[in-house]
Amino acid sequence: MSHLFPHIAADTGYDRRRPVALHAPARQPRIAIIGGSLTGPTLALLLIQAGFDAVTVYEAAPAAATLGGGLISLEHSSLDVLDRLGIDQDEFVKFRFETITQITGNDAAGSGVTRRVYPGRFTTWPLLHDALTRRLPAGVVQHGQKVTGLAETRGMPVLHFADGASAPADLVAFADGRASVGRRLLDPHRQLHYAGYVGHRGQTSHLPTELSQFLRLEPCPGVQFNIAPIPGGCDWTFYLNASAERYTDLFGASPHRRVFALPHHVGPAARHEVDTYAALHLPADQADVVHASHLRMAVPMLDIDPPTQMVWPIGAGHAVLLGDALAPVRPHTARGANNGIEQAAGLAAVLRQHRAYRADLPAALTGWQRRHLPAAVTAVRLGPTIGHRLGLGTRHCEVTTRSLAAAAG
Ligand SMILES: Cc1cc2nc3c(=O)[nH]c(=O)nc-3n(C[C@H](O)[C@H](O)[C@H](O)COP(=O)(O)OP(=O)(O)OC[C@H]3O[C@@H](n4cnc5c(N)ncnc54)[C@H](O)[C@@H]3O)c2cc1C
Repeated sequence: MSHLFPHIAADTGYDRRRPVALHAPARQPRIAIIGGSLTGPTLALLLIQAGFDAVTVYEAAPAAATLGGGLISLEHSSLDVLDRLGIDQDEFVKFRFETITQITGNDAAGSGVTRRVYPGRFTTWPLLHDALTRRLPAGVVQHGQKVTGLAETRGMPVLHFADGASAPADLVAFADGRASVGRRLLDPHRQLHYAGYVGHRGQTSHLPTELSQFLRLEPCPGVQFNIAPIPGGCDWTFYLNASAERYTDLFGASPHRRVFALPHHVGPAARHEVDTYAALHLPADQADVVHASHLRMAVPMLDIDPPTQMVWPIGAGHAVLLGDALAPVRPHTARGANNGIEQAAGLAAVLRQHRAYRADLPAALTGWQRRHLPAAVTAVRLGPTIGHRLGLGTRHCEVTTRSLAAAAG
């Protein structure tokens, strides 16, 4: 089955099917999901599938906005969640490879080559986002709705929006990403820390010879380059050290303010710097790919204090954090989207138990937190360990700065 909600796609709005509702309450709980990227739409689909029909996704970006993103690897646990939503894997996995080839150092004899099989598959943000959002019934996602506040009013959570509007909810699920307003409101002491390096990204239709699977190059400390085929070309990420000041010079705002540098933030100086590093550190065909890439983005690596809580009571209602809103993790861990999807599936499961069998809601949410918090904390802690092993991060900034100066001089 490729589509779970064929009758909805035809016309009618929400899925009216119910789960086995032994003790369904008189009124459907109003569930507000903040963020319409990956975690939010996954949660919305799972809840609708479970019979909740008062689900709204509030997304800050306007409907017409082109949101970007590149290659994402999904583990089998996440793939299975998508399977259970009836999303055919062929729709978002366009290359069937599972192998990651890693080349460490510049050893011409090839002794630094290792291959491992990734326990999952590779997709891209646009493919996955499209597969999820096109299944959401009309009207579920409300674009251009930027949440700015959450208050308890008459004993219930009420969301406030940038345009002055407000909306009550029984449960508010913040899936609003690494700069989450939900995290700022609910868990204000957890800060983001710039880790001292940047993931420069690019896409091009120029394919290096014989690139048919994921290739990772680690030519020297302080440099990692990942490249893989995507529909129409290839996608690469080039990790390089950069001080916060350098990031600000290159992308026009500090790493904390500009948590994603979008294509229009990447000017000639940033392109030139990345091209120079590519020529310095990468084999000629990979450096050519970088040079030929018109579409460029960048992501500052940001760490966060590990989470200790995912659920907050707000009067008689609740608010939760999940996905990057709970804990953005370094991309090397390949756990960000996976965490969000697994947490969404766990949350939908406990809400269904509450609705269908009157499971005690605070206890059910606490159980969800107990199951998912450890994986989020582990991924938050793993990022700096990997970065350190690669010579990437604050303490290593000087190494890259010197290598660039040497190349220039
Ligand atoms: C280079 C790179 C490689 C990666 N590779 C992998 C990988 O291989 N595997 C993996 O699992 N993960 C990977 N990730 C991480 C993954 O992309 C993220 O974890 C994932 O996108 C998080 O999804 P999300 O929906 O939780 O948050 P986001 O994708 O950040 O989406 C948040 C959404 O909330 C909206 N929003 C924000 N604020 C508000 C507001 N106030 N009101 C309303 N809406 C708001 C935003 O517009 C956005 O649409 C990678 C990330 C990067 C940068």
